[in-house]
Amino acid sequence: MSAILETYARRSLSFSHGKGCYLFSTSNEKYLDFVSGIAVNALGHCHSHLVKVMKSQAEKLWHVSNAFEIPEQEKLAKRLVENTFADHVIFMNSGAEATEASIKIARKYFYEKGQINKNRIITFKGAFHGRTLASLFAANNPDHIKGFEPKVDGFDQVDFGDHDSLKKAINKNTAAIMVETILGEGGIKVIPPECLIGLRKICDENDLLLILDEVQCGIGRTGKFFAFEWSGIEPDIVPIAKGIGGGFPIGACLVNKKAGSCMKPGSHGSTFGGNPLAMSIGNAVLDIIFEKNFLDNVISQGNYFEEQLLKIKKKFPHVVEGVRGKGLLKGIKLKVENTKFINQLFEQKLLVVKASENVVRLLPPLIVNKNEIDEAISIIDKVCENF
Ligand SMILES: *Cc1c(COP(=O)(O)O)cnc(C)c1O
Repeated sequence: MSAILETYARRSLSFSHGKGCYLFSTSNEKYLDFVSGIAVNALGHCHSHLVKVMKSQAEKLWHVSNAFEIPEQEKLAKRLVENTFADHVIFMNSGAEATEASIKIARKYFYEKGQINKNRIITFKGAFHGRTLASLFAANNPDHIKGFEPKVDGFDQVDFGDHDSLKKAINKNTAAIMVETILGEGGIKVIPPECLIGLRKICDENDLLLILDEVQCGIGRTGKFFAFEWSGIEPDIVPIAKGIGGGFPIGACLVNKKAGSCMKPGSHGSTFGGNPLAMSIGNAVLDIIFEKNFLDNVISQGNYFEEQLLKIKKKFPHVVEGVRGKGLLKGIKLKVENTKFINQLFEQKLLVVKASENVVRLLPPLIVNKNEIDEAISIIDKVCENF
């Protein structure tokens, strides 16, 4: 029996080290990592720049409280603001905390305007926003909320893609709409650009804030820094995490000037959020992602990956129903059981992760190259032969 509380069904496998897109097990077997710690290791394992920056910061300063100015934090916030829709950033340590901060800011915004009952948030079935109580009941996944009632109130759920229900759900107490730009856990469901434009319009017409959860699909994963950038719209609030730390726990909530105006000293906080060590690493991740051509390469590798996956679909129509996603956030919707398929990929040393709707999720590091994609495709091809 393990001393660890059993909240995960773990594979009996552990790793001793990693390099780029590869992980090496404690028995020294080599695995191709197309999970990236669920979109976390954006620059692969042990990227030399991240290692260098982490070592050098570790010898200078790890942590000071937010009662003091933190130059590394100022710098990361400034770079996020200069390169996105945002005007302000508050740092957290995880995705759930980042969505939690988003929910708090949306409520506080209307409270400060004197509209104290305008505090409900419309969310979508099949979404995932994290495991804190509010983010849990925001997504309202029956498997996740079971046993954790009383529920956190303030969320009204509609079906994904059901435009009529969405419009009907809006009333005088609605403060915001919150959705992932691409549903990750929910099955790599992309909200089409025209629907994002529609959501922005609905928010403007009804004086609602638009919260786009980019914890999984953001930080370059789709080939733009944020997935919503493909639509040309700007949200009001965006929680991020996963990729921004490249493996170090960092979360943040980005807001425009309007949404941020309600927050004052004391409105929100986090002991660890934005400490010098985390912020140095976040800056190091951006050093690479903001390099010229980095995101273009994500787009071209993503396109290549898609072409190859579509060939697989054509070759094995009885196995593959469809290919979903954008950039290097890909999903294969299967006609055969996804867990069986994933186990066979695993036998062939390709690591992937499942998603809802019988989807296999493929999240290679953003530094993946054509050879590594070819290697993954040949394993997927081989496994398709078995069904
Ligand atoms: C992973 C995820 C979260 C939660 O992030 P944690 O760091 O696990 O708390 C929230 N939203 C989305 C879209 C995610 O994929």
